Amino acid sequence: MPDPRDDVTPSTCPGCGARLDAASGVGHDERPKPGDWSICFRCARPLVFIEGGALREATAAELAGVDAETADALREAQAAIRSYHLPGRGPISRNS
Ligand SMILES: [Zn+2]
Repeated sequence: MPDPRDDVTPSTCPGCGARLDAASGVGHDERPKPGDWSICFRCARPLVFIEGGALREATAAELAGVDAETADALREAQAAIRSYHLPGRGPISRNS
């Protein structure tokens, strides 16, 4: 299994300010490449890898043009992240 920090240049999430310096594939072990989708582990914002391994916010056009399979995968990952961060369950819970 590859190191989750391989091929990832630390970035700041444009949605929540989280430091993003690692990535794990969903259903595979491949490392990210430019144009690949990602999701912020903290706020679930859709992001896109750019040249050099950094992340930027996905554009409205990219989100509108995403294929059905990728859209499903993004929604699933977002739901899992939001569920993980529910009060009392996740590491950024404000109730703990
Ligand atoms: Zn975020």
